[in-house]
Amino acid sequence: MATFRGTQMSTKHAGSCLCGEVRFEIEGEFERFYLCHCGRCRKDTGSAHAANLFSSTAALQWISGKHKVRQFDLPSTRHGKCFCSTCGSALPMVQMNGKLLVVPAGSLDSEVRIRPDAHLFVASKASWDDALDQVPSFDGFP
Ligand SMILES: [Zn+2]
Ligand SMILES: [Zn+2]
Repeated sequence: MATFRGTQMSTKHAGSCLCGEVRFEIEGEFERFYLCHCGRCRKDTGSAHAANLFSSTAALQWISGKHKVRQFDLPSTRHGKCFCSTCGSALPMVQMNGKLLVVPAGSLDSEVRIRPDAHLFVASKASWDDALDQVPSFDGFP
């Protein structure tokens, strides 16, 4: 029996930065989705944790604004990030000599269908990053 592997291969994800100058497409599937609470990810995102999707097979294509994309690699570490030089938004990054594509989940405009696999480096999480699901929630501003 034939399988419809081709259907899965053609999955496309679209993303962009906040100012809209940078647009990209990703063709393929994500294999892992991690929320990293380490000090570097907290500093780099300005938030409680990074939320990154990982793929060893998906292909990244810049649709517009490629010249606006900057990469920062923290010396003597494997920590790096790509961002828009106009608005600072986090953008996808290719790591390990092209073997691994890392995509900040918040940079995607299309729906992310996989759930996070795990929280990482929770030993380093912020002092206020605890039982956040018990904090009052509003649909918009209170
Ligand atoms: Zn931008
Ligand atoms: Zn981290």
